[in-house]
Amino acid sequence: MKPTHIEHIGIAVKSLDESIPYYEKVLGLSCYAIEEIPGQKVRTAFFKVGQTKLELLESTDPEGPIGKFLDKKGEGIHHLAFAMEDVATALNDAEEQGVRLIDKKPRKGAEGLQIGFLHPKSTHGVLTEFCGEK
Ligand code: ZN
Repeated sequence: MKPTHIEHIGIAVKSLDESIPYYEKVLGLSCYAIEEIPGQKVRTAFFKVGQTKLELLESTDPEGPIGKFLDKKGEGIHHLAFAMEDVATALNDAEEQGVRLIDKKPRKGAEGLQIGFLHPKSTHGVLTEFCGEK
């Protein structure tokens, strides 16, 4: 199964309030949604660039995944999300190819989409997300 497009790029930021103005004023994009995802200990802000979105990620807990990432690496690109028609099948296919998965099964992500992560140790350093309707 291959991706149809890049669904979004996840970017870790210290503060949504401080980073949104850059995307709006300098790049001329507009934030169309802000959503808190308690399960992932993040608050997200979304922008559209053509068919691809930017997902800014602000940590709500220093012990959460984005909190730890910011602590280690600082602000920057956190993950790449590929749009997949069927996330469960895409995860299974990747695992059959020997890829280590973070999520064995899809779970609910932002915007009500099904998501699943591949481990960056198996993807040449890029934290990879599959994202789709099912
Ligand atoms: Zn994402």
